[in-house]
Amino acid sequence: MPELPEVERAARQLRRAALGKTILAVKAIHPSLKKKLPAARSRRAKGKRIDSIERRGKHQLLQLDSGETLVVHFRMNGDWEIGTTSDPLDRFARAAIELTDGTRISLVDRRALSSITLDKRGESSLPRLGREASDRTLDADYFVEALRRKKIAIKPALLDQSVIAGLGNIYAAEALWEAMIDPRSPAAKVSRVKLEKLVDAIRLVLSPRKRRPGRYTATRGVSRFAVYDREGKECRRGDGVIERIVQAGRSTYFCPKCQRG
Ligand SMILES: [Zn+2]
Repeated sequence: MPELPEVERAARQLRRAALGKTILAVKAIHPSLKKKLPAARSRRAKGKRIDSIERRGKHQLLQLDSGETLVVHFRMNGDWEIGTTSDPLDRFARAAIELTDGTRISLVDRRALSSITLDKRGESSLPRLGREASDRTLDADYFVEALRRKKIAIKPALLDQSVIAGLGNIYAAEALWEAMIDPRSPAAKVSRVKLEKLVDAIRLVLSPRKRRPGRYTATRGVSRFAVYDREGKECRRGDGVIERIVQAGRSTYFCPKCQRG
């Protein structure tokens, strides 16, 4: 599943290919995407210029000069493929944005779970989103307030996009390990000290360059994650074995020895 750094990378790629250019056509190709973006709606994008491309949570927002917004979400497998309108269409292309300069940006997705919609001026199909995981203003005070009334465990709370936008299953687990927080702890009961550690941990896991050398290695065959997908392996703190549990339908990996409170 694309996590925040991958969506950020995709948005940058899209900016390089499309920013300031004019749309020739937006086409929904797969039936499930046609439902979200019927032809009558997508036609509105024709002739409009792409003025900005922003990321909000895992949504990519293409702001058009008409005040309308194309909203794209990759869900589990989506990605962009940049080519030209004369290239053969990828067999997994589910939608395509064609530009007047001949660029074609295909939304490729094996499982066709991605979505693309066109919001009219003043409309927003975005769900309620909390503070951005990558926002520099994210702090313990924000978490104290956002988690105060949550009656769920901290791990599923971190996946709730109305609490914090853009944190996915992998990095939520990694951040909780970094901050030594038990993913099963009730969200509202995690101490301020732990939440301060969590803020630092989120910054660390979302910026691979800041990761301490030796702890995460990109070597093939060696996991670059501390806990994610490491069930049965030794904790990198050397104190226990990584366990896998299911919370709110998602796998959680953690070390029951060092992740407490
Ligand atoms: Zn441990």
